[in-house]
Parts: sequence; C-alpha cells; structure tokens
Amino acid sequence: MSVVATYRSGVREHGFGAIGTLTRYYAARAVGLITGPGRECPLCDATVREFLPFVELRYGFVRNRAACPSCGALERHRAYARFYRDFIPANFMLPIDILHASAEESLGRVLGRFARRYDLTDYESPPPGHIHLDICEPHLPPASYDLIVLNHVLMCVADDRRAVRALSTLLRPGGMILAGEGILRGERTASQREAGYGGRYNQYGDADIATRFAPMETEVIDVSADLAPSERARFGIADHETLFVIRPPRG
Ligand SMILES: [Zn+2]
Repeated sequence: MSVVATYRSGVREHGFGAIGTLTRYYAARAVGLITGPGRECPLCDATVREFLPFVELRYGFVRNRAACPSCGALERHRAYARFYRDFIPANFMLPIDILHASAEESLGRVLGRFARRYDLTDYESPPPGHIHLDICEPHLPPASYDLIVLNHVLMCVADDRRAVRALSTLLRPGGMILAGEGILRGERTASQREAGYGGRYNQYGDADIATRFAPMETEVIDVSADLAPSERARFGIADHETLFVIRPPRG
C-alpha cells in the first residue's frame, strides 16, 4: 500500500489521530534507515540497517526498532526462536507433532523444522491451511500433540485457566505447552472482566504463576537472559522476554 493510501485508510478506520501516529511511524522509520547500527534477524538471517517500527493505530502507539522487514518477526519472536532452537531438541525425541495456536508465520521457520506434523490454528479468521480453533473448546483428538505453542494468547483469553486445562488434554505423555507471555516481577496476576489494551484480560505476575494453571506446573523462563549485550543489540531483542513452560507435574 502506498504512503498516501496508508494515511487514507488509517484515517478512515481510526480517525484523524492516525495522521500523527503514522507520521511518527514514518519519521522513526526514516531515522532508522539513516542512523541504524546494523541488525540481524536470527529467524530469517536478514541483515538490515534497522528494524522497522511497530505501529498500532487504534492505540496511537509506535515502538521503534521492532519488526524485521523481511519476515515480520518482532523482538519477542526473535528471542523465542533462539530459545526454541536449543530447548526443543533438548527436551524431545524429534520429530514431534506441534500445534501452533494463533500462529506467527515467522516462527514457523523454526518450529516447522522440528515437526512431523505442524498444525497452525486461528480463532477468528483462519487463513488457508489453518485450523479454526477455540482453545477453550478444542475439538481435536486427545493426546495428539507433543508440543503446543501459543504466544501472547493466554493473556487475551478471559478464562485462561480453562484454556490451559483444555489444551493439556491434547498433550501426549512428556508433552508441554510453551506460552510466550510478559510477566510482572513481585506481583500477583491481575485479571479483568473486560478486555483492555490490545485485547488483554490477564497481566501475569510471578508471585502466583507457578500454580495458576494447577494441576499443571508453570515455570517462567527469561529467554533473553543468556544473551550478551552485543547479541541483544545485534538481534534487536529486549532485556527481558519471558515464556511459560506449562507441563503436567513430574512425579
Ligand atoms: Zn527476519
């Protein structure tokens, strides 16, 4: 879409506030192209001067240095990808059957390599090749996957405990759920009845997350913790990117 068409559709869908937001977006993009230090995407190996800003017109929000222009991966996807590459071969006998809910296309490059069967799902409008799936009522055969991946999904589900209970029935013995979610340190999880910013119902806190999905156990992993500052800068990964490993209690 041309710049003019982008402004037109932005105003049409989000009002005149979109003009300011889009102007900030294009300004940040231009500055990045001139002053960017050089980045590398660990998902698609693209090298770029700077990642593109991420914009949410509905909220008037622009975040700089976010998206890979080649594969679309955001900061968290780049961090998750590096984690998957080490964690999955270390925890499974490959290949495995993977269910990727609300699948991010960029992560398919990594996950697909480990998979015998790699099923992609979407809740609202599944693109071609995706299964239409409500994770709270997944009409799929029990014990049919080794790994279920879903990122920034549980926080947007009003009854996230029910979703995890339902998804856990799809796991085979030894299986687990990897859920990328942000978490507040030293706080309890706060849930609200109405969806807030970005459709969020839940803001997770590490004070109660270990037992939130009981009887499943939840472990929080900071997937960017082992990165050197130079790697964080090169891959454009934030200081903290967290992911929950949810699995049945190990006896
Ligand atoms: Zn990329």
